[in-house]
Amino acid sequence: MTANRRFRRVVRIGPVQVATYYDDRGREKHTAACTAPRCGFATDYDSRAAAELAARTHRCAVR
Ligand SMILES: [Zn+2]
Repeated sequence: MTANRRFRRVVRIGPVQVATYYDDRGREKHTAACTAPRCGFATDYDSRAAAELAARTHRCAVR
């Protein structure tokens, strides 16, 4: 993730944080990023629902 992005509506679903931000062109983007050490799961989505679904269904490989 790039610095200086302004994340909005940050929520935490299990170990995964979901946030909405605007990219360099002002388009709304949604990201789901796992906070577990060494997991590394982080993906951007075009819809908030898709990001939240990914967060809910994420299964950490690291235990
Ligand atoms: Zn994870």
